Amino acid sequence: MPRFASMGFGFLGILLCIEGATRLTKKSGCDIIPITITNFDLMNGKMDAKNFEEVKRQLAGKGYRLTKQRLAILEVLRSSDAHPDAEWVYREVKKVLPHVSLGTVYRSLEVLKDAGLIASLEVGPRRRYDANLSEHQHILCISCGRVADIHLPPSLLEELEQQAASEADFTITGHRVEFYGLCPQCLQKSKAESTE
Ligand SMILES: [Zn+2]
Ligand SMILES: [Zn+2]
Repeated sequence: MPRFASMGFGFLGILLCIEGATRLTKKSGCDIIPITITNFDLMNGKMDAKNFEEVKRQLAGKGYRLTKQRLAILEVLRSSDAHPDAEWVYREVKKVLPHVSLGTVYRSLEVLKDAGLIASLEVGPRRRYDANLSEHQHILCISCGRVADIHLPPSLLEELEQQAASEADFTITGHRVEFYGLCPQCLQKSKAESTE
């Protein structure tokens, strides 16, 4: 670990201690874990120092602080491609931060979204979250609710936009392309049931 990086984490640890102490006076029994180099490593097996600074910078850009909850939630989302909902995120984050509340998870997800660190998607009945910010589309299984990624060629989407613009005489500023159907497991199940 380069020396400058550990200095950075040490500084963050101090900052979070101060923030935690302020909160502790308001709400006793609150679980305060300052992020130190040791537990930061435990919580964040994948995030390197550069990435970590970038997360801090993006949050600060919108006036938000980096908290251990926000960091843990971001890590949970970055380690999954399942496009989970808030309750799933809550269950996963609880494994690392047992005292986190569902309300904190909901608010943190909105903060991370506002800071441009995650995206939310309105696919199916529940709001889902995605840490994959590259341009891609989604497909929803209408039976089990699973959401998978699809990568359509940008040229195809441009062509669709051009066609839509010329037909409606609109200036297109964006689009939303979604697919739905049956995932392989649900298709298998429905086939098995129909032959019973
Ligand atoms: Zn399915
Ligand atoms: Zn996605």
